[in-house]
Amino acid sequence: METALKPTDAQYAAIRGNDPAADGNFLYAVTTTRIFCRPSCISRVPRRENIRIFAGADAALAAGFRPCKRCQPDKAPEADPRLERARALIDRRLADGEPAPSLAELAAVAHMGATHLQKRFAAAYGVSPRGYAEARRVATLKQELRNGSGVTEAIYGAGFGAPSRVYEKADRWLGMTPADYRRGGEGLTVTVAIRRTSMGLTLAAESPRGVAALLFGTSAATLLDELQAEFPAARIERNDASGSEIFAALEAVLRGEPVPRSLRLDLRGTPFQIRVWTALQAIPAGQTRSYREIAAELGLPGAARAVGSACGNNIIGVLVPCHRALRSDGSLGGYRWGLKRKERLLAGEKKTEAAAE
Ligand SMILES: [Zn+2]
Repeated sequence: METALKPTDAQYAAIRGNDPAADGNFLYAVTTTRIFCRPSCISRVPRRENIRIFAGADAALAAGFRPCKRCQPDKAPEADPRLERARALIDRRLADGEPAPSLAELAAVAHMGATHLQKRFAAAYGVSPRGYAEARRVATLKQELRNGSGVTEAIYGAGFGAPSRVYEKADRWLGMTPADYRRGGEGLTVTVAIRRTSMGLTLAAESPRGVAALLFGTSAATLLDELQAEFPAARIERNDASGSEIFAALEAVLRGEPVPRSLRLDLRGTPFQIRVWTALQAIPAGQTRSYREIAAELGLPGAARAVGSACGNNIIGVLVPCHRALRSDGSLGGYRWGLKRKERLLAGEKKTEAAAE
């Protein structure tokens, strides 16, 4: 937790003078009343030794202070027109496909010193000017991806330089968990069957496009919760008689046979995740690949960690064989459904492989 600071002379003067120019620079809390305020608040001026300074409302709330009802320091302050000019300049440059303006340029349009602008901007919008520009580019990227642009095209269209840099960070930048991305499929109906298989209690989910999920667990309730979390906007219909083709495919793969060609998978994720999951499907039974090898295959040699996390986000177990992806040192890495299951799957595939030779 952030340690609250005592006020500087300038801060104390601003609090005593109810100085609106100091709003956005800091908030102050009073240890005796446990309330925090903006510098301009006309509440009674507290004794200096009882004042604690915070950068923002989150920090003050985290330290156990309550927002003042009069100045509402937890609400966003009125937009400062000087800061708005700086923000508009960033928007305009990015819209024109140009690099984001420098801090000096922003300071000039805002008529503020660079350091002061940096601070005020962060206090008003919650991010630095640079962070704001990056967030805008990411928003544009998302928009273009949703509009169906090709990934590379979308990356350049959003003003990013190198696609490889975006792939590595896309999932974090886009803030897209698979669940977020799937929300695009609102109005989707997913049919669900839960049966016991040699993998344990197994949930098979099917959308009109194909297999949407294959999950393993110990209770029907947690399996259904997990599915709902992955498809928050979908209507989930349970019918344990459905999904026969999926269960048959699962048993076939567990016997060492390939996934039947007729079975369609409905892969939903970020473009990067879909590339990883497709690469996994090309690994034959009985073989494994390291996250690094998969990254290299995709032409993204630096993305081993991102490959690992895409494997962890796979929700079509066994049929998208993320269990065949290992750490580069040969250790198992992770497995969404437990390392014991991963170990058993790999051991089973080795055995059938040996029997076939
Ligand atoms: Zn107040």
